[in-house]
Amino acid sequence: MTDMNETPRLLILGAHPDDAEFSGGGLATIYRQLDRPVKMISVTDGAAGHHQRSPDELIGLRRTEAGNAGNVIGAIYETWDFPDGSLQPSLEVRHRIIQEIREFNPDLLLTHRSCDYHPDHRAVGQCVQDASYMVTVPHVVPDVPALHKDPVVAFLPDLFTRPAPMRADVIIDVCEQMESIAKMLACHRSQLFEWLAYEAGILDTVPEDEQEKLQWVKSWFGRHARPRAERFRDQLIALCGDPKGKAIEFIEFFEISEYARQPNTELIRSLFPSSIER
Ligand SMILES: [Zn+2]
Repeated sequence: MTDMNETPRLLILGAHPDDAEFSGGGLATIYRQLDRPVKMISVTDGAAGHHQRSPDELIGLRRTEAGNAGNVIGAIYETWDFPDGSLQPSLEVRHRIIQEIREFNPDLLLTHRSCDYHPDHRAVGQCVQDASYMVTVPHVVPDVPALHKDPVVAFLPDLFTRPAPMRADVIIDVCEQMESIAKMLACHRSQLFEWLAYEAGILDTVPEDEQEKLQWVKSWFGRHARPRAERFRDQLIALCGDPKGKAIEFIEFFEISEYARQPNTELIRSLFPSSIER
């Protein structure tokens, strides 16, 4: 694998500050535990995510919150300036992503699928798909040197079923990483303890105490993450047998994009350490 970095590098391109760790925080944690470089990016500025705070205030606040979340695992966390809630899969966004992929040079890039409930997620997924091959074409974004090989692109876990449910090409048991994921999510205070709680009608259940807040995040995230393992329970039992396959509570699963580099088994093992195999 001479065209790979000696130490695999992970880039997560999400639409919003908190998308990267919500969906890929387990794998990001595993990368950092192995001392591998991780960069998480929010393509939008996060200015739309609140019912009270002004967009101007939110941009700065969410940039700080994202930076704090990156610090939990020692990852870079960048928040870009594209408008939250109004992202388009424009040439400008595509070119910015091409530049980023060339400069960070990841071996694995995780992002949203281009079918998703949120238009910003769809736009990022589309732009990554449109950038995947173009990163190797020198005359596209000519001021940043092209890559010899495109990275492997994989989709962050989602449970949508139209037009097609996600395949679990790779499954990772993230039970041991749940503490780290919760700590990262808890950094997004304006979201977890304000906006998302408000939107879900559970603002009155957010505790005052910091330790209790972390427990609250664990329980909140558990409710979102548990259905991922349930969706692939049969596959988990086939892979791990009974009782282990029945007992795994939290997973991250990834589908390899067919529009970017196609990894062989050896490369998948290297890019997804501790993936569950038969
Ligand atoms: Zn999002």
